Amino acid sequence: MMKTRGAIVRGVGLGWEVVDLELGEPNDHEVLIEVHASGLCHSDQHITDGDLAVELPFVGGHEGAGIVRKVGSGVTRVKVGDHVCTSFIPGCGVCKYCARGQSYVCQNGYLMEKGVSMDGTPRFFLDGEPLGAQCRLGTFSGHLVCSEQQAIKIDDDIPLEVACLVSCGVATGFGAAVNVGEVKPGDVVVIMGMGGVGVNAVQGAAKAGASHVIVVDPLEGKRARAAEFGATATFATLEEAMPLVHEHTDYQGADVTIITVGRVDGDIIGEAFSSIGKTGCCVLCSLGQSTPGIAINPQDLQTMSKSLKGVMFGNCNPAKDIPMLLKMYKDGKLKLDELVTNRYALEDINKGFDDLVSGVNLRGVLVHDHAAVAA
Ligand SMILES: [Zn+2]
Ligand SMILES: [Zn+2]
Repeated sequence: MMKTRGAIVRGVGLGWEVVDLELGEPNDHEVLIEVHASGLCHSDQHITDGDLAVELPFVGGHEGAGIVRKVGSGVTRVKVGDHVCTSFIPGCGVCKYCARGQSYVCQNGYLMEKGVSMDGTPRFFLDGEPLGAQCRLGTFSGHLVCSEQQAIKIDDDIPLEVACLVSCGVATGFGAAVNVGEVKPGDVVVIMGMGGVGVNAVQGAAKAGASHVIVVDPLEGKRARAAEFGATATFATLEEAMPLVHEHTDYQGADVTIITVGRVDGDIIGEAFSSIGKTGCCVLCSLGQSTPGIAINPQDLQTMSKSLKGVMFGNCNPAKDIPMLLKMYKDGKLKLDELVTNRYALEDINKGFDDLVSGVNLRGVLVHDHAAVAA
């Protein structure tokens, strides 16, 4: 058992509390990661808001990058010293979903919300009491133990402070446009919400060849950044954006609309769905409402041959797509440095989430201080 320091949530509405944690040894097929950086993702905010039900108390964070410091027996995917991104979904490689190229819904994600290891035992302890961790990771802790299926080796020369963003937000947004919306050259695409996911949906749509990437966001500061990632126009509301959408689509509606708002509900989905034209696709990335009820006219869905698709991790396969996106970054084809608005020390994590909620950040990154630890 080793000591580490991390941020936990004890109850809904209580924010994050930085505490000293105990961490168990890596078991078979598990690795111990020294976490260097973690994105502050809205999915973590959804836990403190109560939108995402988990067993509290809970160690937060799932968007991490760090260095493997110890491996349990039988580990073959990574070795001590490897730089890794954490994958919030495991990829066993052999379940029905992995076998057909859909690791983003790997069966080993079952009961992930409990936050304990796949074998059902906890790795984190607080004052001797076990506690779970976000996506079986807990990247708001300076160290964590996870399955080797959740450690994706990356090149040593990629800064960990940007690599961590590919562990969730970048892949989710990019994949929402490319894999799920299947944006094609010439398409008219609407992105609702220019947050950490939306900005990468903009990058994905632009890379896929969309002629028009129209961003909707109420915050002027967010809209001001959209063009540098590939947006062609911005509006404060979807209603204001629709005349331009109609102008470019012969009054049919968008080819693809991607929902990346901070918190979604059935009315927002209905509004987004109404913005797409015949055979259009509406892609839902955001979390929020967890009860039935979407304001969609079934006849509109049927007669217009429209589709509404949910998306997990951008329907990316972590072992393939995390290295691919980082290669694009190294090749100058994907902007990651430009995403980072602010860096925060662990002790300032609540300031980081305040900035996320108020819309100050494109992305905020938590940087763990391992200065005292020999590299
Ligand atoms: Zn699997
Ligand atoms: Zn996330």
